[in-house]
Amino acid sequence: MEHNLGMDPDTIQPLLKSLAETTHAVAADVIAVDDGVPLASWGRAVNAGVQGEALSEMRDTIRDVTSDVANREPDDAIAEALIPGFTLMAHGLWHKSFRGSLCIMRPDDQPWTENDRALLKMAADLCRSVMEAGNISRDHGRRLDLLVSYVASELMGVSAMDHSETTYRVLGELGRFFEVDTCYLRHNDPQLRASVLVDEWPRREDVPDPDPLGVISWDDPISAVTKDLREPYVVRPRGGPESYQARVEAGSGIHQASTAMVPLVSGDTTRGVLGFVHFGDRDWSRAEIRALQAIASLLVQLDARVTAEESLHHHAYHDELTGLPNRRSFVETLTDILKENPEAPLTVLFADMDRLKTVNDVLGHSIGDLFIQAVADRLRESVRPDDIVARLAGDEFVIVLRGVDNVEHAERIARRLLNHLTEPLDVGGHVVSRSACVGLAVNGGNSSAMEELLGNADVALLEAKKRGGNSVVSFNDDLRWRLLDRADLEFRLRTAIGEGEMRLFYQPEFDLRGGQITAVEALVRWQHPERGLLSADSFVSVVEEINLSAELGRWVLNEACRQLAEWKRSSIPAPDVVRVNISAGELISADFVGFVGTLLSRYGHKPQELGIEITESTVMRDIDDVLATLLGLRRLGVSIAIDDFGTGYSSLSHLKQLPVHTLKIDRSFVSTLAHDSGDRAIVSAIIRLAEAFNLSTVAEGVEDIDTVTALLQLGCERAQGYLMSKPVSAADITKRLAEPGDYLGSSWWMGRS
Ligand code: C2E
Ligand code: CA
Ligand code: CA
Repeated sequence: MEHNLGMDPDTIQPLLKSLAETTHAVAADVIAVDDGVPLASWGRAVNAGVQGEALSEMRDTIRDVTSDVANREPDDAIAEALIPGFTLMAHGLWHKSFRGSLCIMRPDDQPWTENDRALLKMAADLCRSVMEAGNISRDHGRRLDLLVSYVASELMGVSAMDHSETTYRVLGELGRFFEVDTCYLRHNDPQLRASVLVDEWPRREDVPDPDPLGVISWDDPISAVTKDLREPYVVRPRGGPESYQARVEAGSGIHQASTAMVPLVSGDTTRGVLGFVHFGDRDWSRAEIRALQAIASLLVQLDARVTAEESLHHHAYHDELTGLPNRRSFVETLTDILKENPEAPLTVLFADMDRLKTVNDVLGHSIGDLFIQAVADRLRESVRPDDIVARLAGDEFVIVLRGVDNVEHAERIARRLLNHLTEPLDVGGHVVSRSACVGLAVNGGNSSAMEELLGNADVALLEAKKRGGNSVVSFNDDLRWRLLDRADLEFRLRTAIGEGEMRLFYQPEFDLRGGQITAVEALVRWQHPERGLLSADSFVSVVEEINLSAELGRWVLNEACRQLAEWKRSSIPAPDVVRVNISAGELISADFVGFVGTLLSRYGHKPQELGIEITESTVMRDIDDVLATLLGLRRLGVSIAIDDFGTGYSSLSHLKQLPVHTLKIDRSFVSTLAHDSGDRAIVSAIIRLAEAFNLSTVAEGVEDIDTVTALLQLGCERAQGYLMSKPVSAADITKRLAEPGDYLGSSWWMGRS
């Protein structure tokens, strides 16, 4: 059967070779539907060791795959198949009466990738263009076919990186082939509203500045010719617009020239023009022009691909808002630097603007965005060009100072940066200034360098934030130890509860007039196997962060109830109430109220014998969820106290809606009460407020006798504190409860009431 490929099969060989090389295939063939025999091929399966039965099995498979893809829609025309030892992939190919496939194969231990599929699709497109060019230029022999095929194969492996180099090489190839004096590629740039010279062959020497042929505005009459050109356009001496000849003369000094211009058409738009200039007169045959059209369409395809690739790359590696490199790009760059030299002298600096959220909340997100852009600009301009500035997220930036390996030097730069960063900025008519924090780590040349370096800078940043606005902290041994400590804590905490390492201590609460114990507060301790008894402050926040607070909380509640039952069973007078601290995570954990109810009945306690303490900040964090739980607890009859009261005054306004019974006045006001008139006013106000809402008050952190006097004057009659008792073990509480006359430990106390 005759197959009308529309050209000499050898013409397409350079393209097949390029395809095979770029996809690492052992063979690339054009196959016709009916017989599965290659019409054009590069490489041979036999050379790759396929023989005998395997070879005929392979032919069958290829035939099946070919008839499959040849019958598909063009946008879904790829199929893969396996034959012993090999994998093959085929793309449908259609041209006039020809139906077949473009087919590549390679050993089956290398599965095809997305990139291979894209290359095969592109090659199939190119193949069709070459077939079309072959069809129209047959009358002029094979030379034009070969040219088109050559260009197609040149363009096959092009990526965004070597795009311009290839363009120049192709222009040279075309220029020499058509024996013109110069040829060029211009693109229409809708943003500049101009036609822009992409490249020319040969490149001119002594180009005037500005180049009259460089950027030509669409308003320029000369652009009228090329801007919306749809069909090839030939200008010969003594023809065409005067201004055009004049322009060529200004740019090149030549005044007698003939020009052929072939538009780069993509759909409805003209993307640019491929131009050929011959000094003196020259005729262009139809076949030549149509070969050029085929090449122009190859260039359009290439352009679309490279643009897509570039924008993909840009989006993948840049932060949209600031145009700075993003996290991925930063990580890759730093990895490369450290791979080359793990001891590269450099410092990583994390910068974080304080409370950017308030800018967003108060001034709106568009001002917030402008602010971030301005910050990015400031960072960029504060460092040297070869330093790296990237945006990691939100208001987090990272800077790599290259060549800086000395802490003092790095800190000096960081402080300079900070000063620049925190100068007031005018954004959208608002003057915004924010403090910032910087954490830095100098590269020490460790093996796990990159992760460790970033981790260290991050720890330093956290420390800087802890110290408050505008601080610079560099990572040091002290922080390193704390880090190890923290990792160890986290690790052991996960098993500590189950292993029975938790303890409850109890701090009594007293009636300041009579000296009786009115309640005990359960405070958790961790009997660490190596470090001894750890106080709550050293691990409770970690428990919250690693989501163990519900587990720990249930243990604490159960143990406190169990201990109360034990006190009640003994012959001594048990405390009236045991108070338990509840964290935010616990409070909103599933069926918290149900759990408390079960405990009460398990140990036979009256609900009012159990008190729950929640901090003011917990209440504010999630007021709706918290409120639902609190209402449930109140229905049970459990008493509720707000802990650390006064530290977040927003809740004053919510007091009315919260079902609470007691306010525990925060230690920070109480401890200075006797000497600080401001704190005295605050405590006084809290007590008045409590009276107005019919709540009782308990003062925390009473450490001296003057405070007791002041509290009594202001009308607060209950308190806890080191003066009366530190938190102690259950056994110690039992002893004190058993000797009521002695537990205040001093005669002055009894004397006061
Ligand atoms: P908190 O609820 O405000 O507990 C009072 C803390 O202040 C206790 O520290 C106690 O030892 C300390 N304190 C009591 N009187 C004085 C005093 O006169 N002077 C000074 N300087 N300190 C005093 P602790 O036991 O380290 O507990 C710290 C925080 O950890 C507690 O603050 C509470 O928020 C939390 N916490 C303790 N136990 C638990 C628990 O079982 N569950 C939960 N979720 N949190 C707990
Ligand atoms: Ca408490
Ligand atoms: Ca407290």
